Amino acid sequence: MTKIVFATNNSHKLAEIRAMLPQGIDVLSLADINCHVDIPETADTLEGNALQKAQFIYENYGYDCFADDTGLEVDALDGAPGVHTARYAGEQHDTEANTDKLLSELKEKNSRRARFRTIIALIEKGEVHLFEGVVDGEIATERRGADGFGYDPVFIPEDTGKTFAELGVSVKNKISHRARAVCKLMNYLRERK
Ligand code: IMP
Repeated sequence: MTKIVFATNNSHKLAEIRAMLPQGIDVLSLADINCHVDIPETADTLEGNALQKAQFIYENYGYDCFADDTGLEVDALDGAPGVHTARYAGEQHDTEANTDKLLSELKEKNSRRARFRTIIALIEKGEVHLFEGVVDGEIATERRGADGFGYDPVFIPEDTGKTFAELGVSVKNKISHRARAVCKLMNYLRERK
């Protein structure tokens, strides 16, 4: 059995990945390898942050490892919040405050076009592989729906007319940015020797 660490303790992300794993691969969480430190995330791009997290585990714990980073990129805000998505309204990572700030910044704007972008960085035997997942859409004018997390109540993926929070987790997990990046990672793991 090949063991790969996923640099997260987010139980939703772990369950999503474990449900898609090819045979012969086991994914370990940070808790599984007794890593309880705050992994640095100080890069100025999603790619840089994902790589920084994966590299930290590879170098300090010796496991092959992958890590993800996600940003919401809004056209009318020149790509913001982007790499600052989690802390858009401040270092407290407050989802409600982040969403309020986004709605307020877009009040006077004509375009509400946006995309969620996830980067997964895999380090395997010292080699780096990057996988990207994107979902285009727009920002709603107010919160709608009760499912999901983060910006889900205000993000309307293209061609659906509903927010992620209205679509629900099972639909979201088929079309989301993260699902698309994870799918590419899984195809790579399935097809490699
Ligand atoms: P992370 O890189 O997965 O930690 O995500 C960064 C920030 O993006 C989080 O704090 C969330 O607020 C937001 N985010 C990431 N993925 C999603 C999603 O699928 N729906 C809504 N918000 C998300």
